[in-house]
Amino acid sequence: MEAFPRDQADRCVLCGLCLPSCPTYLKTGDENESPRGRIALMRAMAGGKIAVSAKLEAHLDRCLACRACERVCPSLVEYGALIEAGRALLSSRRPHTRSRLLGGLALSCLVERPRMLGALVRLLRLYQRSGLQRLMRAAGIPARVGLAKLDSALPRLAPQEHWRTVYPAHGATRAQVALFTGCIGRVADQETLRSAIGVLNLLGYEVRVPPAQGCCGALHLHAGRPGQAHALMRKNLTAFADDAEPENGGTVIVHAASGCGATLSEYGRHLPSEAQAGSFTARLADISRFLAQAPWPEGLTAKPLPKTVAVHDPCSLRNVLHDEKWPYALLARIPEIRLVPVAENHLCCGGAGAYPLTQATMAEDLLADKIGHLRRLAPDLVVSANIGCALHLAKGLARVRPAIEVIHPVTLLYRQLRPRA
Ligand code: SF4
Ligand code: SF4
Repeated sequence: MEAFPRDQADRCVLCGLCLPSCPTYLKTGDENESPRGRIALMRAMAGGKIAVSAKLEAHLDRCLACRACERVCPSLVEYGALIEAGRALLSSRRPHTRSRLLGGLALSCLVERPRMLGALVRLLRLYQRSGLQRLMRAAGIPARVGLAKLDSALPRLAPQEHWRTVYPAHGATRAQVALFTGCIGRVADQETLRSAIGVLNLLGYEVRVPPAQGCCGALHLHAGRPGQAHALMRKNLTAFADDAEPENGGTVIVHAASGCGATLSEYGRHLPSEAQAGSFTARLADISRFLAQAPWPEGLTAKPLPKTVAVHDPCSLRNVLHDEKWPYALLARIPEIRLVPVAENHLCCGGAGAYPLTQATMAEDLLADKIGHLRRLAPDLVVSANIGCALHLAKGLARVRPAIEVIHPVTLLYRQLRPRA
């Protein structure tokens, strides 16, 4: 287990400048639900001054790990490293209840074993398409067996794509890029990945999809399981350790989901003794940034879109990758589009990883604020660069404005670039 970074905790000077950026503090007004409160709690736990209790667990579990506090902290406290280490410590000290053991088992089986995840998705799709889901919901069965949250969080599943290992460029090949597909995104956000491949190909890039890649490790890190997260990270280092274009430092690794990208970008911090980690992170690029900065072939233009598009900034894109301006820059290539940021984009939507399942009340509360902003804005479409946020926002919009789609910026771009079938 990683040692608790006490030096980081000691950097907090209790100034409170992070409080207005912390969604859980703004909702509760409770100091224990604030960054500096949580840092004090973790420091006390690590120093043996307080014991693990249900209250302590609740305060740390309720943190979204959105890292809005880190972005504004004048003392440069690395809150992300603190909360990960704090959760790992908590996980090693709290009792192993049946639900935690089952949760850990589910995480290991599904996220670490893509075939098992694929089989489950096929079964769930059958459950949706056969009408069984509708019947079960009408009879209130998911709620009776304690699966209501899981059932309501389930997106409409599409047939499973069989990803090829190479997607050739249209016309002359400018260069190769590797695509990170992740675990959940690979089965639940296929349109984004297909669009990323499509636009890259149109721009002259050959896209490689290394078959041995897997989950970035984020879900395990957030669950306080750094050992398993590090094993997944090493697997990805090996999967992407090619020697293509070695004179340029290797092929660029493009990621589409900013939540995965944020974790990938910190492999160096997690695996300091892995020589490959530094070159791996140097090769990473968020898809919007990469496409906005890439040279575009002459004659490749997007169809006009005279519509209002609300842009949601995921916390991972904003607070970790610092790439939040690129979706706007990329979508500005679409003539006549009206891009409008969602109000309070600096506050998390509540869709952070498994948060809507583990902290449903707070997740719904934060979602309600976003849906309120979107209702006032009344856009034609919403874009978000992270699958977790997109699914969460789509779930909220489905209740009040079901016609408004939530898609990745690259999907919107691809729809405007793709020749009509
Ligand atoms: S802004 Fe930084 S130093 Fe100030 S209270 Fe928050 S975490 Fe501590
Ligand atoms: S990561 Fe987000 S929720 Fe957690 S303390 Fe920081 S601002 Fe608050």
